[in-house]
Amino acid sequence: MQQDRHHTDMVAARRIVVLTGAGISAESGIRTFRASDGLWEDHKVEDVATPEGFAANPVAVHQFYNDRRRLLLNASIRPNPAHTALARLEHSVIDLPGHDFLLITQNIDNLHERAGSRALVHMHGELLKMRCEQSGLSFDIREDLMLDTCCRCCREPGNLRPDVVWFGEIPLSMAKITKALTQCDLFIAIGTSGNVYPAAGFFELAREHGAHTVELNLESTNADFDEHICGPASTVVPDYVERLLSSAN
Ligand SMILES: [Zn+2]
Repeated sequence: MQQDRHHTDMVAARRIVVLTGAGISAESGIRTFRASDGLWEDHKVEDVATPEGFAANPVAVHQFYNDRRRLLLNASIRPNPAHTALARLEHSVIDLPGHDFLLITQNIDNLHERAGSRALVHMHGELLKMRCEQSGLSFDIREDLMLDTCCRCCREPGNLRPDVVWFGEIPLSMAKITKALTQCDLFIAIGTSGNVYPAAGFFELAREHGAHTVELNLESTNADFDEHICGPASTVVPDYVERLLSSAN
């Protein structure tokens, strides 16, 4: 009886939404903001991750993201088996009739893309993009972004900022995310707390619309997911994906 209630299979799961957070990239060597002490690589988040912080000291904020970007582009930073497994899941289901898949990530790194994920939304923006505050357009960037970097659209310096969603700003692609959550029948949260925004809200919305809900976290959160799977993402995510795919055969 318990088995039935807790078992997820591909026959039931036709529309899958996955939400990933810092926990999935931690094992690739990327450190992010820690809610426990409010620090991100020893910087206060209000200094480096708010519009006010950027207005007060744009040079320091650019430097902070330049450092993060250089680290991300370092050859030692690579997708881990959790990223790879999610790309495999997407490619296994995306072409099946009636199936749909969306990966929502809170992470600003590019490890999901590098692992092969395509149906992907970066709700908090991307470290390898810059945005013009005049036009709202985003551009790829792999080098350092400086105060005097000339914008590719308005041809002026001083209009560019990291294309990252800061505290107090609205996450990207919310309409697409909301639609997917209300239509999904399987919601999987990985490496993100089920108790705090945005995972908590996404989980509630998916559940209200009848989705089976699963969390894969280092430690189980207290949120009322149907399944709690605990362990390092690089182990539990490939195992879970394998189980889902084998149930489809
Ligand atoms: Zn511009």
